[in-house]
Amino acid sequence: MSLLWAGLFLAQGLNAQGPTMVSLLDELQSAADDSTRVNVLNRIALKHLELNQFNKGLERSREAYELARKTGYLRGEALSWYHIALYHDYRNQSREALDAYSTSLHTFEYLDDSVNMARTMNSIGLVYKNTSSFDTALVYFYRSREILRAIGDDQELAATFNLIGLVYGAWGDYEESLENFMAAMDLYQSAGNALGMSLTYNHIGSIYCMLGEYGKAEDYLDIALSLNMEVGPTRDLIDIYTELGMLYQESGRSQEAMATYEKSLNLARYYNNLRKMAEGFDNLGRVYHSQAKYAEALQFFNRALDIRRDLGISHGLMVSRVNIAGVYLSQVESMGASTEGAPAPSREMIFNLLGDALQEARTIGNYTDLVETYETLVRASAAFSEYGDAVMYQEALYKLKDSVAGADQNRSLAELQTRFERDRQEQEIMLLKSEKKVQEARMRQQRIERIIYVLGGISLVILIIGLLNRMAFMNRARRELEQKNRQIETEKHKAENSEQVKEQFLSKMNHEIRIPMTTIVGSVNILLKNKHLDSQGKYLSAIRQSSENLLVIIDDILDLTSLEAGRVKLEAVPFSIAGELDNIGQMLSFKAAEKGVDLRIEIPDHLPETVIGDPIRLSQVLMNLAGNGIKFTDEGHVTIAVQVAGREEDRFRFRFEVRDTGIGIPPDRVDRIFRSFTQADSETTRKYGGTGLGLTISKQLVEMQGGHLGVTSEPGMGSCFFVELDYRVEEREDRSRKRDPGPGEEVLKGLKVLIVEDDEFNVMVLRDTLSTALEEVRLEVATDGRAALDLWAAGEPDIILLDIELPEMNGHEVARAIRRSGRTGNGVPIIAMTANALPREMEECFNSGMNEFIPKPFDPDDLLLKINQLISKQQYAGK
Ligand code: ADP
Repeated sequence: MSLLWAGLFLAQGLNAQGPTMVSLLDELQSAADDSTRVNVLNRIALKHLELNQFNKGLERSREAYELARKTGYLRGEALSWYHIALYHDYRNQSREALDAYSTSLHTFEYLDDSVNMARTMNSIGLVYKNTSSFDTALVYFYRSREILRAIGDDQELAATFNLIGLVYGAWGDYEESLENFMAAMDLYQSAGNALGMSLTYNHIGSIYCMLGEYGKAEDYLDIALSLNMEVGPTRDLIDIYTELGMLYQESGRSQEAMATYEKSLNLARYYNNLRKMAEGFDNLGRVYHSQAKYAEALQFFNRALDIRRDLGISHGLMVSRVNIAGVYLSQVESMGASTEGAPAPSREMIFNLLGDALQEARTIGNYTDLVETYETLVRASAAFSEYGDAVMYQEALYKLKDSVAGADQNRSLAELQTRFERDRQEQEIMLLKSEKKVQEARMRQQRIERIIYVLGGISLVILIIGLLNRMAFMNRARRELEQKNRQIETEKHKAENSEQVKEQFLSKMNHEIRIPMTTIVGSVNILLKNKHLDSQGKYLSAIRQSSENLLVIIDDILDLTSLEAGRVKLEAVPFSIAGELDNIGQMLSFKAAEKGVDLRIEIPDHLPETVIGDPIRLSQVLMNLAGNGIKFTDEGHVTIAVQVAGREEDRFRFRFEVRDTGIGIPPDRVDRIFRSFTQADSETTRKYGGTGLGLTISKQLVEMQGGHLGVTSEPGMGSCFFVELDYRVEEREDRSRKRDPGPGEEVLKGLKVLIVEDDEFNVMVLRDTLSTALEEVRLEVATDGRAALDLWAAGEPDIILLDIELPEMNGHEVARAIRRSGRTGNGVPIIAMTANALPREMEECFNSGMNEFIPKPFDPDDLLLKINQLISKQQYAGK
């Protein structure tokens, strides 16, 4: 529709029906001067454009422009630009068209050529109207109207009224639209311009058609038709027939519609107006489409498409694509009902067409086109059951309609703005014209302002860039931080996991190594105690020494892991320091004797008898220090001494010293020996064995108890390791009480021991160890948990040695059953014996009600010591 008017306006405004191309070329040949040549070239360009020879039109326009510029013929330049703009306008290249029109307008303004100014403004207005920018279109039409009013050009003024009427018509304000058409009509009438009147009647008819008043519409269109016939006929007839055809179609008179459209098409053909021919094909296609004659409809639509493709008009192409897609869709939709005709068009065909159409409609920016395309897309998506897409397109459609509805509501506002804009621009023009000096001054000022703006702009941009950079930096920093946190979180998780895996692995290895070691150590001990050849003795001792070393290493590693994992819990129980020292002495006496080193224990008389603390950790540390002393001393003595170093109320500071006369430690190595896996020199392992873990563990254990471990040493002279620890002293202590008796003493005579162990060999080793060490010991053996409970109930043993992994009931279950029984004997000491020597297992044993824990393979001395301690404690408690 809109293009129809554009063509119409130009036909009128620029007097299209002029001389033929041949006569124009003649004129060009005989042109007397350059200005005339420029004018003729421009007219040739226009002729080409009218003949749809767009590229030739553009070429001639440019030729005209070049010549005009060279000769300083400004009006010629302006006209050339106008035709260049026209070329783009025809090709629907709105942006380029507007640029060229503006250049032309400015030149006309400069030349004070009001008629051409108004004309160009109208052309610009039309471009805006075609891209649905109705308010901007009106700005230009109003300006043009005022200029034309001022110069009294009624014909152009009437044309402008018509244009304004068309904008209001497109806006849906039919009242305003008709008012403007009437104003045009008055002007044409008073000038006796029948063609103008015909054109205006045509517009009025189309408005009534849109209003659904078909009778009135038909009357006006009939008048339009007869007027044109009388005076012309002119090419306006094409439009009048088209309008009439639409009226018939809309009022359901398809046959008449078709006949009228055909007339319009033939006229277009006659005038060689390809654009209107395409429109004619479209109109016919629509009638066929509405009659479900799809094949015919497609034929017409495709012919329109072919023409438009040749012309390269994007708006037309878009219309054709939507039309064709519409027919395809109808075919798809009707497939269920009828089976005749061609196979259904594919989904791809339809969506490809619509996709292209949407893109074109968006580029052109015409509201009606977009609405039509979206509506067809909604239909297509629904037809192919793509309801998600259908909803999406529907939403786009609503948004579009909303925005236009909003624009509609704001129309009066837009009008006001339009008027304001117009006045302002006019004032500007007046000002520019009247005061050249002011103009120059203003330009200077503007230049300065521009510079200020530019500088301001640049600073602003720099500021913004700076801010953005900062924001980006902050964001990046935040992101990095978040990432780091996540990494840390994962690492932590990994570490926890690996800590767990490490512990599981250690537990497994510990168990796996201890079981065969139990056998080895047990067997060697038995062999050594029984009769053997002297030559075998040293080998047996070597085996025992190596096994013991191996066990120490395992214990060390386990201890260290537990310490590092913070899983070692300290006890706070009453114990005797002197007693602990004695025990240590006894346990190490054999080793010292073996090396020919004198082991001495120094306990002052006034030492407090009972302190509160963790006796196990204390003896572990002192055993390690004294063990090292013996290991690194070949001659002389090792002394374990204790003394009170200070006191604060009931808290005593004890200083333990382990002195030796051994190899000593070079001063530069002293610090290193407390580190894990570190020895004073690389020779140590080869000569003395060891892992370098003992001191690390000892130091940690001491520090855990709030104490301090240190050393003074002189190479070749010996070392003194000292430990300072605070203990609370139990004042009610009976000083005269005898110290805990050692193993094998009277107290253990005739002891009744229940061995709960399913492994035959272990039972053998235990039997042997106990019967050798304890006088008149009575032994009972249960090989599963249930039997253990029975034997305990029947015999009430003095002590139970309980294996954990047992058939029927495990050791924990047995212990709990005994503790729960509530019988008098439930205070019986139970020693857990297991190859799983991990702290967690130990804890569980204590939780199940057991009193002691001995890792397998057991150290006979350790076992006897613990039996002794437990029995003594019980007797002491029983007293
Ligand atoms: P290990 O004894 O298993 O090597 P330790 O951590 O107990 O591990 O000792 C670390 C190192 O400190 C020893 O290897 C040794 O070099 C040195 N050391 C410890 N005690 C003594 C000592 N009494 N006399 C000389 N050197 C010692």
